[in-house]
Amino acid sequence: MLPSGQTHAVPFQINRLLKRGMQGLRFPAELEAQFERESGAPRSRRLWREGLISIFAFNAFYVGEWLLTRQISGRELAVQLGLITPLCLLVNGLMRFNPPRWLREGSISVMSCVIACAYLALQSGKGPVAIAFTLVGVIVTAMFAAVVMRLRFRYALAASGLITIAGALFLLVDHSLKTDEKITGLALMTIAVGIAMMSNYSLEREERLGYLRYLQSEADRQEVSEMNSRLAELSSMDKLTALPNRRTYEEVFERMWNEARQEGYPLSLILLDVDHFKVLNDVRGHSYGDDVLRRVGSLLPQALRSTADVAARYGGEEFVVLLPRTDAENADRVAERIRALVEMAGSPPQTPLPERECLMWVTGSCGVSTCIPPAVGRKEMLLETADKAMYQAKAEGRNRVCHRSLDSQSGSDRRVPITGHVA
Ligand code: GH3
Ligand code: MG
Ligand code: MG
Repeated sequence: MLPSGQTHAVPFQINRLLKRGMQGLRFPAELEAQFERESGAPRSRRLWREGLISIFAFNAFYVGEWLLTRQISGRELAVQLGLITPLCLLVNGLMRFNPPRWLREGSISVMSCVIACAYLALQSGKGPVAIAFTLVGVIVTAMFAAVVMRLRFRYALAASGLITIAGALFLLVDHSLKTDEKITGLALMTIAVGIAMMSNYSLEREERLGYLRYLQSEADRQEVSEMNSRLAELSSMDKLTALPNRRTYEEVFERMWNEARQEGYPLSLILLDVDHFKVLNDVRGHSYGDDVLRRVGSLLPQALRSTADVAARYGGEEFVVLLPRTDAENADRVAERIRALVEMAGSPPQTPLPERECLMWVTGSCGVSTCIPPAVGRKEMLLETADKAMYQAKAEGRNRVCHRSLDSQSGSDRRVPITGHVA
């Protein structure tokens, strides 16, 4: 996951690198630290792998050349095998331990300078041909550090600068060369090292841009997945009451029904219908009606005691509550709590109307049904039975709870009617 401030910094940095170029090839401190954290270990591994291959290849060529031509002196061979190769292997071995950047880049920079200076020192004063070969070796060393090892730009620049200065000094003091040969050698070396530095800069710039693009795509992906989960959440909620909507209820009901059938436990369903809601809307207005629905929506979860219970808006002024592992008696208790809560707290504050003598009190009627889902049978049967029970509660005077068993056709009112009313 990306730190929040960084997601804004990334597009800015991409633009900066694309439009304004170099700027020291550095990110702001925090981003730079993260870049180093993430790229350091794979970079060390690559340097170790490629370095090892190069050391062995170079020594093989060197020994091969010595065997074939015998033009390499014993002193040169001793320096190569006794000094340069062990030092190279030491620096190479360091890469196995994922060293900090200054040590990783610095040790390779120093190593390439040492190699170049050793060649220069060994060939000093041997005439134009030997010096031409030496300069090629020096250029190859600088190119190897800048383009193959791809040292970070600052380190590559420092190493190449030192190598060029060393080469220039070597040419200057060499007595076996004429002035124009010295100038040509210096020009060739400067141009070659310059080209290597340009390549090094482009490579690092591309690497940094690639990293920024990766961060950008990660941030985009994260944003899309956040939007998707937000959308999924929105499409499962009822906007007015913030309860799960009908679609979610259907899914949850299906799941609970199947679970109860498989495990053989009772599932109860309560249907709550706000009484005389149409009159309430007509008298108090739809916005007051909406406030009532919001209130009832917030009261329902308060009447529940198990986190497995689910209350949802069924539609209009009807709500549904699913109670897994709940028998008829306990389901009636929950329904009664809901009824009482709606009666006590379901009415939002209202200003008295001149044409009405008293305020309107919101009440609700509950129909309850319970069953252990049979092996064959639709889950809708439970809803239909609760619906019948709810209509029975309406018929018997509203503001009450009625219970019907799935198998019985006759309803049983488990509550004494309460003198709730719509004034
Ligand atoms: P009963 O006691 O028999 O349930 O009568 P009732 O008036 O509550 O039932 P009826 O089905 O006649 O009216 C329901 C009303 O609910 C009609 C409709 O305008 C209103 N209604 C449905 N959804 C909303 C809503 O989201 N907001 C508001 N304010 N009213 C709604
Ligand atoms: Mg209704
Ligand atoms: Mg109603």
